[in-house]
Amino acid sequence: MDETILIALGSNRRHGRHGAPAGVVAAAIAALGALGLHVIGQSRVWTTAPIGPGSRCYANAVVAVRTPLPLAEVLARLQALERDFGRRRGQRWGDRVLDLDILAAGARVVALPGLAVPHPELPRRRFVLDPLVEVAPAWRHPKLGLTARQLRARLARVRRPG
Ligand code: ATP
Ligand code: MG
Ligand code: MG
Repeated sequence: MDETILIALGSNRRHGRHGAPAGVVAAAIAALGALGLHVIGQSRVWTTAPIGPGSRCYANAVVAVRTPLPLAEVLARLQALERDFGRRRGQRWGDRVLDLDILAAGARVVALPGLAVPHPELPRRRFVLDPLVEVAPAWRHPKLGLTARQLRARLARVRRPG
């Protein structure tokens, strides 16, 4: 497999060694090469400051990788890295040290029980589309026919009041 794979990274919990979520995301990006995922592009690490008491910082980024590995093996290695960073299962949606999602693999469409590509939530998530546009603005969603840049513009329009 030689197409570019786009991966979203997210964190909203501190890590004992890597510190705040932005440090967790940076450390996870640095760890990808040793897993056979060769990083060829990366966004900034986007952060949101906590607003109220008890709420948490979020950090998000997107990277582009190349690898000869099959996609199922890429997912397995990303899940192993999540575990290395202390993520426990059963934390879907909730606080997590590290979340690694496969956003896309070129123009491929995969619809398996444990692997949906492109990631089904991608068109609705600002925190994914903002960094994705930095890495791969011209990547085209194979089912929607829109580029990353167009998807973000569409989301911005939907959210604008009036
Ligand atoms: P969301 O997928 O809405 O962002 P999440 O990332 O919190 O939620 P996880 O708990 O990380 O969800 O993963 C739940 C399951 O999603 C995993 O067991 C995995 O098999 C499955 N999954 C399906 N498609 C993908 C994908 N493209 N990338 C990562 N995991 C996926
Ligand atoms: Mg996720
Ligand atoms: Mg996930």
